[in-house]
Amino acid sequence: MKIALISTFLITILIQTTTNQMNSIDSISGVHYLDGKPVTLEFDDGNISEIIRTKELVKNSSWFLAPGLIDIQINGYMGVDFSGPNLTVEAVKKATKALWRVGVTSYFPTIITSDFSLIKKNFAILAKAMEVKEIGNSIPGFHLEGPYISPIDGYRGAHLKKYTRKPSWEEFLELQNAAKNNIILITVAPELDGAIPFIKKIVDSGVMVSLGHHNGSASQIKDAVNAGARMATHLGNGCANMINRHNNPIWPQLSEDLITPSLIADGFHLNREEIRTFYKTKGADNTILVSDALDLAGLPPGEYIRGERKLLLTPNVVKFPGINALAGAASPISKCVEVVMDFTNCSLEDAIKMTSSNPAKMFSLNDRGLIKKGRRGDIVMFTMSDNKIDIKKTFVAGKEVYSLD
Ligand SMILES: [Zn+2]
Repeated sequence: MKIALISTFLITILIQTTTNQMNSIDSISGVHYLDGKPVTLEFDDGNISEIIRTKELVKNSSWFLAPGLIDIQINGYMGVDFSGPNLTVEAVKKATKALWRVGVTSYFPTIITSDFSLIKKNFAILAKAMEVKEIGNSIPGFHLEGPYISPIDGYRGAHLKKYTRKPSWEEFLELQNAAKNNIILITVAPELDGAIPFIKKIVDSGVMVSLGHHNGSASQIKDAVNAGARMATHLGNGCANMINRHNNPIWPQLSEDLITPSLIADGFHLNREEIRTFYKTKGADNTILVSDALDLAGLPPGEYIRGERKLLLTPNVVKFPGINALAGAASPISKCVEVVMDFTNCSLEDAIKMTSSNPAKMFSLNDRGLIKKGRRGDIVMFTMSDNKIDIKKTFVAGKEVYSLD
């Protein structure tokens, strides 16, 4: 009798333990983005613990499961401007949550050429925001686009000339200090005085250098690559309208094997032929898509004052009528997935590579960017028809952070 009681007691404990373990493992089912076949992912402690392939759909779920999107160039979202004078930690939280709704699980808040003290102030705010547990997992670091870029019209794009500066290592350290060492990407013009030694120091400090908003010659671009630059910021944009057909900054960056370009594939910053050419030249393994979205993205079309600029938001793009330039994009990076598939006929696998796996690899974010055992449970669930994506759910570190219903 006693033995029977003890056995029952032990069995009860065993069942409870199993149940508890089961509760701590969440699972999601759908179809794998690589092959469209059924898959169930189990999460444990925020990471993917099992990838179970089944013959039949589980619970009829036919939503695609893909690694969450990673946007390395985004200026703001839903009215929150990372370069604006009113940035707060709360505002960064708001932007992050809005980005979850469009499938972005990680992003690099990007600060553009602005008043130096404002850049510094905003990096300090971003560094504080990163420490907020709720959103910290979605912000691996920051992108500083400028102020060490070309002051020349066309090349500087919509960046204000008066805030462009000559490269200064001391200044950069000041910004990096304010950012608590979280600037992981900087866009620099290689032709500026002192740019090449500056690039070398930045690279040696572990920060990625991307060439952008510049009119560098082939030899200046080569020098920058030799100094460690490995990316080109929004290739084909941040460039004057009238350029020499032989000698211009686009060819040397396109032909340089060591450079991975980022492309704004929103359907407006680059035309179909440019996207196709850049994609064919660099390939899906060496291309990264970015939204370059402005804070106006997600807001109703109209005129907006941003800092010292009057901007015009159309349903598709943000214009800077003052200098007849594009000021940034109005769509999140999920739009880039749709556009690149439409323009190049690439597979969903390649589109996700360019919007998730490649940026993760480029910045050694080895815990995300793939559906793989041990990787973080950063997953986006969506349906797709006629190259249009409909985001259904988003998970960060195994937690559901957005659900359409
Ligand atoms: Zn730019």
